[in-house]
Amino acid sequence: TTSTAKKYVIATDTTFKPFEYENDKGERVGIDIDLLAAIAKDQGFDYELKAVGFDAALGEVTSGQSDGMIAGMSITDARKATFDFSDPYFDSGVVMAVSASNTTVKTYADLSGQKVAVKNGTEGATFAESIKAQYGFETVSFPDSANMYEDVKAGNSAALFEDYPVIGDAIASGVPLKMMGNMEAGNSYGFAVKKGQNADLLKMFNAGLADVKANGEYQKILDTYIKK
Ligand code: GLN
Repeated sequence: TTSTAKKYVIATDTTFKPFEYENDKGERVGIDIDLLAAIAKDQGFDYELKAVGFDAALGEVTSGQSDGMIAGMSITDARKATFDFSDPYFDSGVVMAVSASNTTVKTYADLSGQKVAVKNGTEGATFAESIKAQYGFETVSFPDSANMYEDVKAGNSAALFEDYPVIGDAIASGVPLKMMGNMEAGNSYGFAVKKGQNADLLKMFNAGLADVKANGEYQKILDTYIKK
């Protein structure tokens, strides 16, 4: 059979477990990946995933190389200037993490004179930038979460800022880090398209999201990746 249906290109992050990552069989899995698959099936659209990294995914969508992105992307007012977002599908927020063996950094004030690791383009990076002058620390940027964690484990950076469901998963998986301080008021995750583009895709995402929430598939996906 031939099909003239559009195949959407959807960008995502590389490793942002439990939202997107490669399992030990080399398959790309996670809440975002399974949710997109379930919604596409429900709505009958075709797509191709492009796992390029978070910052690169933002660029893919704004440049029109990708039609949309699903990457644990926080719905922020600043981003609404360049993106249109779906309905929120997961509540999140930013938290500080330090090396598991660190006994000196308990609050942001303890970061004075130190380096703090952040991931390019993220809400965690924006948050760290917003408080760095007040607390007297310097930020160091990384393209992905794995390298950011390594920098803290190696002791180059005293702390990092990351979304708490993601750092929580990493810690539960044995990454020697610990969360410190408050969970900062966070934003929910949404699927995004370039502002004013792909309104059809956004509409299908929202309709599919409502369907998979109603039929229990959404909860099943969460239960697969978030162990109680
Ligand atoms: N939720 C964060 C943001 O939108 C981080 C996303 C990510 O690193 N994939 O900025």
